[in-house]
Amino acid sequence: MFENIYGNRKTVENLKNSIESDRVSHCYLFSGEKGLGKRTIAKAFAKALLCEGEEGMRPCNKCRACVKVDKEEHHDLIFVGHEKPNTFGVEDIRDGLNRDIVIRPNEAKRKIYIIDDAELLNVQAQNAMLKTIEEPPEYAVIMLLSDNKESFLPTVLSRCVEFNMMSVKDRELIAALKERNLYEEVMESYITEFAGGNIGRAIRLLTDEVYREKVTNVDKVLQELPRMGINDIREALPLLGGREDMDMVLSRMQVYFGNLLKLKATDSQTARGDIARQYSYEDFPRIFGEIEHFRVRMKVNVNADLSLELLLDAMRPKA
Ligand SMILES: [Zn+2]
Repeated sequence: MFENIYGNRKTVENLKNSIESDRVSHCYLFSGEKGLGKRTIAKAFAKALLCEGEEGMRPCNKCRACVKVDKEEHHDLIFVGHEKPNTFGVEDIRDGLNRDIVIRPNEAKRKIYIIDDAELLNVQAQNAMLKTIEEPPEYAVIMLLSDNKESFLPTVLSRCVEFNMMSVKDRELIAALKERNLYEEVMESYITEFAGGNIGRAIRLLTDEVYREKVTNVDKVLQELPRMGINDIREALPLLGGREDMDMVLSRMQVYFGNLLKLKATDSQTARGDIARQYSYEDFPRIFGEIEHFRVRMKVNVNADLSLELLLDAMRPKA
């Protein structure tokens, strides 16, 4: 019934059960890095909640309501957006959620709000939202989608039923690509390694040229690192640029050094093997630790460029 959802079986089961037993909550939080399908699952759940098909068979994917949800044209499915690119402010919540939610549903029994980029909600916006999620109208369901749940006030978190989106198995990833006619056998091992179970990331690699170029740049910078001085690193920063794809950059780094360690252990006589030999065995755990450290620091919003510079510097072989 929840078609097109790969992996995340437990979450899907939970959501299905909540519908079947009529125990739907008023507030949900779907969390997980970009590309893991938060929006896909939220939309499928919304579709099931708004579906006019036979009970126990929802979403039927055929009725008027299902078709409208697919096209994002259902009047009782509202996507709450934000005006400024990097913040979700109090006005966005007042206009998009608080003022609208008091109006009864247009055509369905429920009214559903999907708030994407919820990690950008500032404290005032969260406080403005709090009153609504504390006492929502009985017909309302609010779904927060976020790649960083650390950004929420505990009072908001405690009101939400939370689901963590998980990466999928390689065979599920491949099935998802086949379904979209994006699968190419020759690319299989590269793509599964690159995506690490993140379907969205694989799709982007295969469909977005600018993104693909960025990935190539990350790989180039990593390979050049042993030869780079601190000035070269500073010059290379814009190539990896911006917070927005940092998940990809960090996972790329992890995969790269994981492979390098294997090449070192097998004393590979390739160009990559030569790079690997420039690192000592002590370098690897240190580098993996730095990547994790950086990941944590990103979540608390430190100056991304500066810490990326430090990270790359720490990734050079220490003689
Ligand atoms: Zn339906």
